[in-house]
Amino acid sequence: MGDILVIAETYEGKLRKVTLSSIAFAKELAAKAGVGYGIAVLGKDVGDVAAEVAGFGAKAVYTVDDPALENYVAGTWAGAVAGLAEQVGADFVAATTSTFGRDLLPRVAARLNAGMVSDVMSVEGDAGDLKFKRPMWAGNVIGTVKVTTPKAVFSVRGTEFDPATPGDGASPIQAAQVTVADDGKVRYAGFAATVSERPDLTEASVVVAGGRGLKDKAGFDGIMNPLADLFGAAIGATRAVVDAGIAPNDLQVGQTGKVVAPDLYIAVALSGAIQHLAGMKNSKVIVAINKDEEAPVFSVADYGLVADAFKAVPEFIELVKKG
Ligand SMILES: Cc1cc2nc3c(=O)[nH]c(=O)nc-3n(C[C@H](O)[C@H](O)[C@H](O)COP(=O)(O)OP(=O)(O)OC[C@H]3O[C@@H](n4cnc5c(N)ncnc54)[C@H](O)[C@@H]3O)c2cc1C
Repeated sequence: MGDILVIAETYEGKLRKVTLSSIAFAKELAAKAGVGYGIAVLGKDVGDVAAEVAGFGAKAVYTVDDPALENYVAGTWAGAVAGLAEQVGADFVAATTSTFGRDLLPRVAARLNAGMVSDVMSVEGDAGDLKFKRPMWAGNVIGTVKVTTPKAVFSVRGTEFDPATPGDGASPIQAAQVTVADDGKVRYAGFAATVSERPDLTEASVVVAGGRGLKDKAGFDGIMNPLADLFGAAIGATRAVVDAGIAPNDLQVGQTGKVVAPDLYIAVALSGAIQHLAGMKNSKVIVAINKDEEAPVFSVADYGLVADAFKAVPEFIELVKKG
């Protein structure tokens, strides 16, 4: 059985924290499968990121430093990752289930002719009988699956693996010679990033999320912005709010949005549909404010307040400010 290759995720030349969950997954899988793991850093001028991930005790950190990888294009990256996996003898490839991982990994699996397990929640068994738990049906069913191909690709649910911490020894950094080929199908045109002073939704320790009960953009912004300011929190939204054009798409939490597990999740005027709960029910403490005491969100809440959000939230903010 070959090694595991973790793909480091970067943004603007910096390591994204979500990578640390994949490293934690790789450590666990390596111990159970009796293999080693390496970390791959692809991009342009990746030296700093490579040095940063070299402190986690991986067998090696492989860099693929190429101008053609400066901007992420799925086809080009997938070819480079698959080529690297073959070159370093990795039978397993892993990254975190983020927008990047979701886009890249199925393409890598196709190129390696590998089975893929998406959204891995845990590793079960040992080298002779490895199995993986993953959510199905919006998280209502946890399936246990086995990969039957010699190679396998994994997207790792970041909220299920505590971020790895450095300290297990330094890894050698090796520049890999991999052919980076533009497949000609998609060309990078530009990247329109949403600029926000707030923390990233998937990395924030506090998330405040609003639902359709906030009615319109003025209602949503008027309640959510001061609440988020109070906690230095990221703002999330339900799909109903996003579909109505009240909040941008990148704020959506849930089955078809982002999966988050902050220390504190404050759900405001949202019902708690299963598709929404699938993206936040693993939060450490959940507070729900809803005027309907029957709202399903109360079934996952640690603290619930049956109240009109337009009255309760400003009062709550005032109280906290007064100390
Ligand atoms: C395939 C599929 C995928 C989906 N993926 C997602 C997903 O990723 N994320 C997601 O969120 N949804 C998703 N949905 C949609 C989901 O089913 C729900 O429709 C959606 O989550 C409902 O959003 P909401 O809670 O904002 O609205 P509603 O369900 O309409 O709830 C509004 C709530 O606000 C409360 N309320 C109203 N006024 C006030 C007030 N003044 N004060 C306090 N409370 C008030 C009401 O009591 C109600 O509980 C998906 C659906 C499908 C079919």
